[in-house]
Amino acid sequence: MIQHFFSLKDVNEPLMPELRMAAIRALESGWALNGPETKAFETELAAFCGVGHAVGVSNGLDAIRLILRAYIELGRLHAGQEVIYASNTYIASVLPISEFGLTPIAASPDTDTHGIDWHQIMPLITERTGAVIVTHLYGNPSWHSDIAEQLRPRGILIIEDNAQAIGAGVMINDNLRLTGSLGDAAAFSFYPTKNIGAFGDAGAVTTSDPQLAETVRALANYGSDRRYHNIYRGYNCRIDEIQAAMLRVKLAAHDLILRQRQEVAEIYLSEITNPEVVLPARLDGTRQVWHQFVLLAEHRDALQTFLADCGIPTDIHYAVPPHMQPCYAPMQQPSTSAAALHTAEYLGQRLLSLPIAAVTPEQAHMIAAQINRFEHKNSDSTSDYTYCNQ
Ligand SMILES: *Cc1c(COP(=O)(O)O)cnc(C)c1O
Repeated sequence: MIQHFFSLKDVNEPLMPELRMAAIRALESGWALNGPETKAFETELAAFCGVGHAVGVSNGLDAIRLILRAYIELGRLHAGQEVIYASNTYIASVLPISEFGLTPIAASPDTDTHGIDWHQIMPLITERTGAVIVTHLYGNPSWHSDIAEQLRPRGILIIEDNAQAIGAGVMINDNLRLTGSLGDAAAFSFYPTKNIGAFGDAGAVTTSDPQLAETVRALANYGSDRRYHNIYRGYNCRIDEIQAAMLRVKLAAHDLILRQRQEVAEIYLSEITNPEVVLPARLDGTRQVWHQFVLLAEHRDALQTFLADCGIPTDIHYAVPPHMQPCYAPMQQPSTSAAALHTAEYLGQRLLSLPIAAVTPEQAHMIAAQINRFEHKNSDSTSDYTYCNQ
């Protein structure tokens, strides 16, 4: 029996003494914003990712907004240009594109990584293409060095949405290179459910470009480069000291957090054998961080109800893709193929996320065993699935 799909209390439990100490340290320092915890967190995050610069910000959505706005201020991106994204991503990857008068162009996702299908990028390039947003969805790194190298000489920016994949990586020339260091800039979210989660909202931008880092930092602080001197019409998108202090604890414990998720993922991968479900792919030559463990099932709704009856909460990330949300439909996407949008809709009907955060090995064995008992019945029977009867 599992109480919640995600419990912040359970996730924080093993780190409680350190988190409590960090929160009290920030409180007692008298610094609320732009203080020593933020500076230390930025230094530690940059070192963790292997990049020159990290800027702590208010949340993951703002991190993407700040990157796009900064590139516009730097003259490297212009309103009216097109930005390519994967049709199945979370809507927060897309909202900033349309906000700045850029046109979102959907590419098909790769059904193994659930990130963008890199081979679909080149056919979508036009003279108006300004950037590609690469989302490392579910903790799966999405990268293709050869294609990335073809984009650079055309001046097309590669922006990573790394909200779900801190610590993930790909092997490049026999070195593990982490997400957040692969493209021109990367956005991080530390929303409480993410692998490294705050106790509230927080985010960050990483980049190796000092000019971009400086511009993001100014934009996040009313557009000021120094006190009462505003060079941009900016925002207030700062991170709190208390969040930065607790995030330092979580970041230092990244290996521990990752091992727990890997252990559960390994149990699911080796013990779920029901032909009704397609397991997530093991991606060779990468480090996956299992933000979500996402199955595909033809009879997804029946499986979800069956598992709920067994006391196993599940979730769907995400049933309705951005282009079908009321705020966008019908989304104007001049060069997008119908197939790209269709793939997201197809996945949306079949995705099912199993609980993974704070799940114990015992619970994972039990969940795998219950999934193996699921059997879809034909529609002429009274019920379309086998009752749990645990
Ligand atoms: C969570 C998330 C975001 C947004 O982050 P917030 O901190 O909630 O604003 C953006 N993109 C993806 C892929 C996410 O999962």
